[in-house]
Amino acid sequence: MAKNHRGKGLKNLPNHGRGECPVCHRTGVKLLYEVKVGEQTHKVCKNCKQSAAQKLSA
Ligand SMILES: [Zn+2]
Repeated sequence: MAKNHRGKGLKNLPNHGRGECPVCHRTGVKLLYEVKVGEQTHKVCKNCKQSAAQKLSA
């Protein structure tokens, strides 16, 4: 599945993959990246993807 985060694939997601990022708390951003923290999986925006794991587990 190429380009999972673009185009028609987004239509299948609830709210078209948009929402509030739990890390930066911006609304209307696309939450397409899953970050595992322990047993939980958080969906974060693209910008927070890399640093999210550290912040959420802190
Ligand atoms: Zn974010």
